[in-house]
Amino acid sequence: MYTFNPGPSQVYPQVRQYLQDAFDEGWLSAPHRGERFVQLVRQTVQELKTKLNIPQDYTVFFMSSATESWEVLAQSLTPTKSFHLYNGAFGQKWYEAAKSLRPASVGHKFGIDEVPDVDKLPGLDDQTDLVCITQNETGTTTQLRDGVVLNMYNRLPSRALLAVDATSSMAGIQLKFIKGDIWFSSVQKCFGLPAGLSVMVLSPRAVERLRKINERSHYNSLPDQYDKMLNFQTTHTPNVLGIYLLSRSIHDNPPIKTTHQHVVERATKLYDYFDQATQLRPLVTNPETRSHTVIGLKGTPALIDEVKRRALAQDLFIGSGYGDLKPTSVRIANFPAIPDAAFEQLVQFFAREFS
Ligand SMILES: *Cc1c(COP(=O)(O)O)cnc(C)c1O
Repeated sequence: MYTFNPGPSQVYPQVRQYLQDAFDEGWLSAPHRGERFVQLVRQTVQELKTKLNIPQDYTVFFMSSATESWEVLAQSLTPTKSFHLYNGAFGQKWYEAAKSLRPASVGHKFGIDEVPDVDKLPGLDDQTDLVCITQNETGTTTQLRDGVVLNMYNRLPSRALLAVDATSSMAGIQLKFIKGDIWFSSVQKCFGLPAGLSVMVLSPRAVERLRKINERSHYNSLPDQYDKMLNFQTTHTPNVLGIYLLSRSIHDNPPIKTTHQHVVERATKLYDYFDQATQLRPLVTNPETRSHTVIGLKGTPALIDEVKRRALAQDLFIGSGYGDLKPTSVRIANFPAIPDAAFEQLVQFFAREFS
């Protein structure tokens, strides 16, 4: 059985052994204030920075989910309002989460085949604390290329920081962390691990800001988390098993550059195939806005149903479309933990049954 569901997604096969080792090595009852745990966090942070090319002077935080990151950013880094540029369900949910805490927050929606023009964004003004973008929109299977993120970063209003939701791309493709202040992801997507842990990284500028704002009224307020992270600890009992699995997996995986090449090549081949050879078509028409890590395909509701049903009967679990797009699309995760053999089976399935 292979799953192409874009989260929770197929985990690395090594996870089976890591879980056994975690049990045998006593991690499941390890005290989270003890030297052994502190060592594990220190090592995991270092390895994440090395393998993913995160600048050394950025600070890494562990939380429970990307959703928690949305909330924490509104609490601790948004005294007035945030600005949200989005084209799908996850970006919109982030906007709604921010708006419920900071009602002055503003959203701007763009089309799935559109490269957003960051020069003309209505509502983006000098009162904006945080500009929020979704680097890979898992709902619409689109991606903002490096150039768009860079332009956004270069055009930030005076006091704004750039926050990037990279939940379904971090650890799958190479990200230019230096061109953003806040990046976050949860591990059940491209990290190929079980859910319940997220990674958030902050630039020195973002750390300086959170210390200045000094919002401390929540259990997960960023200044408290920051104080603890100085000693590689957390404010509350963390997901020790999740951090252990992450440390093992990141250690055994190649540098992001290698993974990136593999993922992008595989995406290119898949888009080429679906552009011509099947009854389904890529959901996103513009090659410049297509995601490398989540591939959307569209068809009539009857065809979509049939594809999912017949694939499942052959042990291939294809992800449903998301939100409004559910009846007319499917999503195929192109995450690094899914082996090439799975994609060969998938393409053979389409060639045989839906060409
Ligand atoms: C999956 C996903 C989320 C939500 O992640 P959780 O860990 O469930 O909170 C947020 N943003 C994007 C882009 C996602 O793909």
